[in-house]
This record gives sequence, C-alpha cells and structure tokens, in this order.
Amino acid sequence: MKSSWRTILLWAIPLLLVGFFLWQGSFVVNVGNGVNTASTRMTYGRFLEYLEKGRVSSVDLYDNGRTAIVEAIDPELHQIQRLRVDLPGATPELIEKLKESGVTFDYHPARNDGAIWGLLGNLLFPMLLIGSLFLLFRRSSNIPGSPGQAMNFGKSRARFMMEAKTGVTFDDVAGIDEAKEELQEIVTFLKHPEKFTAVGAKIPKGVLLVGPPGTGKTLLAKAIAGEAGVPFFSISGSEFVEMFVGVGASRVRDLFRKAKENAPCLIFIDEIDAVGRQRGAGIGGGNDEREQTLNQLLTEMDGFEGNTGIIVIAATNRVDVLDAALLRPGRFDRQVMVDPPDFKGRVAILEVHARNKKLSPEVSLEAIARRTPGFSGADLANLLNEAAILTARRRKPEITMLEIDDAIDRVVAGMEGTPLVDSKSKRLIAYHEVGHAIVGTLLKDHDPVQKVTLIPRGRAQGLTWFMPGEEQNMLTKAQLMARIAGAMGGRAAEEEVFGYDEVTTGAAGDIQQATELARQMVTRFGMSELGPLSLEVGGEIFLGAGWMSRAEYSEEIAAYIDEQIRKIVEHGHQIARQIIRDNREVIDRLVDLLIEKETIDGEEFRQIVAEYTEVPEKERFVPQL
Ligand code: ADP
Ligand code: MG
Ligand code: ZN
Repeated sequence: MKSSWRTILLWAIPLLLVGFFLWQGSFVVNVGNGVNTASTRMTYGRFLEYLEKGRVSSVDLYDNGRTAIVEAIDPELHQIQRLRVDLPGATPELIEKLKESGVTFDYHPARNDGAIWGLLGNLLFPMLLIGSLFLLFRRSSNIPGSPGQAMNFGKSRARFMMEAKTGVTFDDVAGIDEAKEELQEIVTFLKHPEKFTAVGAKIPKGVLLVGPPGTGKTLLAKAIAGEAGVPFFSISGSEFVEMFVGVGASRVRDLFRKAKENAPCLIFIDEIDAVGRQRGAGIGGGNDEREQTLNQLLTEMDGFEGNTGIIVIAATNRVDVLDAALLRPGRFDRQVMVDPPDFKGRVAILEVHARNKKLSPEVSLEAIARRTPGFSGADLANLLNEAAILTARRRKPEITMLEIDDAIDRVVAGMEGTPLVDSKSKRLIAYHEVGHAIVGTLLKDHDPVQKVTLIPRGRAQGLTWFMPGEEQNMLTKAQLMARIAGAMGGRAAEEEVFGYDEVTTGAAGDIQQATELARQMVTRFGMSELGPLSLEVGGEIFLGAGWMSRAEYSEEIAAYIDEQIRKIVEHGHQIARQIIRDNREVIDRLVDLLIEKETIDGEEFRQIVAEYTEVPEKERFVPQL
C-alpha cells in the first residue's frame, strides 16, 4: 500500500510538471490569438476619440487593463480593424466610459498578468523542490504517529472563503461582553450606514481584534456578519504568504474585488500578523512577498471609501509586531481587546456550549469554571466536547461530573496511560509526588492540592494537581516563592528518601519551572536583591524584534542575575527539603496509601497531614530570603 502510493507520486510529479507546461503552451497560443495578432497600434488619445464617436465595437482588456485589443470601424475603409492600445490601466473611469458608450468589453484577468511570464521561469525550480519535498513528507507521514498533515499546501488553492450567511449571532458569543458591546456599533454601520452618513460621520473601515488564540475572535467576526445579515469573506494571513512572490498580493486584490461586488459585507483577515509584521524587520533578507502583500492590503484599504459598506475586521494576538502603517487612521484604527474569560465569563461560555449537550442535573458549570482558570473559550468548548465523547464511550445517557473531571485532566495533561506495577521506580514517583503535595499543603501561600495521582498522563508518570486561585496574573512574592518550593518538593523528596545518587531525570520539568519563575522574579518583577529593574521585555521572543527588545545590561549584571536566580531556586529547594525532613512519618504513610489507591484527593490528603502536624495553617508561611 505504502509503496504503491509512492509510485503514484513519483509518477504524479513529472506529470504535474508536464501538465503545467502544456497548460502554459496552450496559454501562449491563446494570447497569441488575442494580443499579438493585432499588431497595428492606436494611441490612447485616438482610442478615446473613437470611443466618443461610437466607432469602437468591442474592447478586450489584458494585462491588468494596461493593454487593450480594440475592434473599431475605420472611417475611410469602412471595415473593422483590430487595434492594440496601451492603456494606463483598467481604471474605474475607463470602465465607466466603456459602459456609457455601450461597447461590448471583456476583461481577461490574472493569468494574462505580465508578471506571470517572469514567474513561470522562476516556478520550475520551486516546483521541483516541492515535488521532492512532497515525496519526503509523504514518506515521513507513513511512519506511524507522525502528523500526516504537513502537506496541506499541496491543496491550498482555496483563496478565501465566502459565507453568505454565517448563522452565528451574538448569543453564541459569551464572556467577552465589552468586546461585544463595542462591536455592536459595527453591526449598525453595516445595517444602516445611512444613519451615519446622513450626519456626516465617516464609517470606520477597519477593526482589529486583539487577543490570545481561542478567545473567540473569529466567532465574534462571524457574529457581526450574522447579526448584520451580510456575507462574510474570510482569509487567513498565513494563506496570503505564499511561496511565490506576487501571489499574496493578487489574492488580496481578488478578495477586495469580490467583496466590492457583494457589498455590504464583512472581510475577516485572520492572523494578520503573518502579513502585517513591521516591514524590513526580518532577519536574513526582507520578505519581499510579505511586503508586497502588505502593501497591496494597504492600497486596497485606502482605495475604498468608508461608505461602500465594506468593513474589514482583522485578528491578531500580537498587535505589538504590526506595521505602524496598518494602524493609521483610515485603516485598522479601532482596536478591540478580546481577553481570556474570567470566572463569570467562563460560566457564560460553558452555558453556551452546554445548550446542545445532555448534562446530568448534578453538573455545576460554576464548579467547572472554578477548576479552569486560564482556559480560553475554545478550551472550554473542547472540554465539554471531550466530556461528551467520554460519556458516549462509556454508554451513559448523560454527561456527569466524572466525565467532566476526566476531560479536564485530559485537556490539561494529556491522555491517561496505564499505571506502573509496584516497583522501586513506582515508589520513587510516589515519594516525588507526595513531596510536591506536602510542600504545597504546608505552605500557606501555596495553592491547595486538588489531588495526587500515580496514573500517568501525557509524559508525566505521576501528577499533583493544585487548585489555582482566580488571580493568576497577580501573584505576590510569597506566592511565587511557595510555588518554587513546591516545584522543588519532588526532587527534595527523592534526595531525602533515596539519597543524592538516586535522584532521577523526572524532576527536569519541575526544575525548569522553578528556574523560569525565579528568572522572572529577578528580571521582570523586581523581586530580588537587584531591586526593581526591568531587565527583559515580556512576551515570547520571535525572530527579529526579539533580539532588539532585550534590555541592555552589562556583563556584571548578567552574572548577578544568574546568581540571584540560583539563590532563589536554592532557597526554595532548601525549604522543601526541610519540610520533607520534618514530616517524614506522614509522608511514608501517604506514599503507602498512594501506591495502594493510585489517587488521593486533596481533602483526604489534608486530613491525613493534619493528624501529624500541629502547626496551625495560618502560621505556615514561606520563610523569605
Ligand atoms: P480565535 O479566533 O480567537 O482563535 P475562535 O473564534 O476560533 O477563537 O474560537 C474557537 C471556538 O471556541 C469557537 O468556534 C467557539 O466554539 C469557542 N469559543 C471561543 N470563544 C468563545 C466565546 N467567547 N463564547 C463562546 N464560544 C467561544
Ligand atoms: Mg481564529
Ligand atoms: Zn515533579
């Protein structure tokens, strides 16, 4: 089966190339019949004159309207002549004139674009390259487990999507009420533009939706089109950026042309940062294709007046990288933030997605929302869907809290694996997890334990779950310190119980997490002896600007930062070791219980710990550095 595929492909590529050139050949013939046979030329001025006098019978526009083949009646010879005219382009005025004079005219777009001739030569090599890549990808995707989707560009001929009716309304969007309110106005613009133009108001052309992935930006845009009852055109920025120079720009042109034909309508450009990055910011040479596409987009946006009934909505999660030209008045001058939902928002989103699901009455959406801080709308939708799938698989009539809990675990930590049999490594993992859990339980500033489990999930052999508080983006120094100590709890337990020589690689993730937290405390939050200095600009680093946005500091400061990070992590490590040493008895009991039961929930864990320790909870704080 596999090899037959490859044979087909091996054949398909040469055929593809041959087909391509055949097509090109017939194409030459085509144009030859048109443009080239009309060797007699006529000036543009004469053409206009002929047009006015009604001597022109038909006009065929080629080459983006820069060349026309005109059939005109010669006044002296009284016969029809085919003449070639060089035009300044297919301007609206020209089209208007042609319409007025009732001439039959035709437009032969795109393929006759002069640029394509240059392109064809350049295409050969990429085609061969793609051919071989195609094979390579194909081959690698035959390996079980590797994603088979790498070849999507092979069929990415779809330029943009048009939906006459999106069927989405504002009711389907929840938890982002401010954004909805701001966008309500756009609906009115689309529905009743006359209300605004009557009083001389200029309707905005572009709105930028800014927010992290999955917060509902696409959904919102569809809802606007749905509420206004206008067609929805959508394209993704990454689709603009093709490997061939000029393709993106022509797609932009196509898109806006189609949109104008269908006005009033809404154009949605997803991931605009893929095209809209600051020009000239790339490393390794400018990206010509992207710049051309962006320039075309800017031109198109300038080219229509606010009252043509087209509104362009773009989405991005990186407004900071966008080219300033995009944000200028008359383009995307309005920005609407689409934030991740808070607790109330999550409840509202869950309500929307619970509408078409059979939930058992005991399921509390509030409880789900409480367990899922940081989840986006898409995560929540996915969560309920996973729960529904689990329910169906278990042949239950309705979704219960059990399925929901399992679905949350699965969404957060990956698929469940089979537990280890009792062995030394299982005991070590048990001590490691109980180490996390006990440090987390005994430090007052730590989030409470939700459960400890030895059932592997994703790449983790065991897991300790904590109940995160709502205020995840406002943490105190004590909370951060407690997290670092908690993260070191696993390794600390390994060391205390099994000795330094027996520690395992299982703590790598914990160590990384602790180091990262400590680094941020030093370089971003001003929580070290270095004082309140910003030594790093937040956000992910991407090619180009990432290099520039790193704050300047000296070698000494760099060494000092490293030292401070080390100090903080080591401090957390020592706190954890101390806690393990002081509570060895209860830890041993918890480990036995965990090995027996595989999962201990937070309540039971805390009860057992309380039997052994008499320090009241409010006094258990993290000793500060
Ligand atoms: P984005 O475009 O911001 O990445 P999407 O609009 O594509 O996110 O969201 C993906 C899916 O997640 C939506 O189709 C919807 O089912 C769900 N979703 C996301 N945000 C919300 C929300 N605020 N309300 C309801 N559903 C949401
Ligand atoms: Mg989207
Ligand atoms: Zn761990």
